[in-house]
Amino acid sequence: MAATPPKSFDTLPLAPSTLENLQRLGYAEMTAIQAASLPPALLGKDLIAQAKTGSGKTAAFALALLANLNPRRFAVQALVLCPTRELADQVTTEIRRLARAEDNIKVVTLSGGVPLRGQTTSLEHGAHIVVGTPGRVLDHLDRGNLQLEALSTLVLDEADRMLDMGFVDDIAKVARQCPSQRQTLLFSATYPEGIAQLAARFLRDPVTVQVEAQH
Ligand code: ADP
Ligand code: MG
Repeated sequence: MAATPPKSFDTLPLAPSTLENLQRLGYAEMTAIQAASLPPALLGKDLIAQAKTGSGKTAAFALALLANLNPRRFAVQALVLCPTRELADQVTTEIRRLARAEDNIKVVTLSGGVPLRGQTTSLEHGAHIVVGTPGRVLDHLDRGNLQLEALSTLVLDEADRMLDMGFVDDIAKVARQCPSQRQTLLFSATYPEGIAQLAARFLRDPVTVQVEAQH
């Protein structure tokens, strides 16, 4: 199969300062999954995106949710659900790297296995974006620490692993508290049977993009 030509980020409707930031980070070209998923995601479409581990899926959803965000609105506008604390930390780091410095975006991480108190305090100080594991996010919702009325983007990251780990019920409870008018982005390294069922429950008229393993 012929290799697809490299695609530059500046073919996307991104702010000039975001493009400068990407250059500074050494992101010269989009990865295949970024080139396939960013155009529909930036149009506001729901998305099922599958590509192997290490293919740059985090930046694909991070750039989409950051483009949607109003930095002057002090409310949680995006929520990323991840299977583990380590992945939630990695996603938080990547979002902070990709956010424009002048926007002062606040990202709060809510993972299980970490004391609730500090997380609650962080939420009280205000967050634009929350990244967390489903059980802990639900815990904060139940305690009234987290409100999702202003949410515009819900991301299910590493959805195959969240299925394997039995998080479906928790995801459903969290999704029920999100506005129905929202964009939902589902990212996964593999596409088992359960992914289609998950998408059918939580996504609306999704675009599906799959990048085959490259050899
Ligand atoms: P995945 O979620 O698909 O497993 P990650 O989002 O963790 O992959 O990305 C893997 C690595 O690739 C990270 O270190 C990230 O910084 C880097 N990366 C992502 N996009 C690009 C790009 N366009 N150019 C160069 N490096 C990138
Ligand atoms: Mg990932």
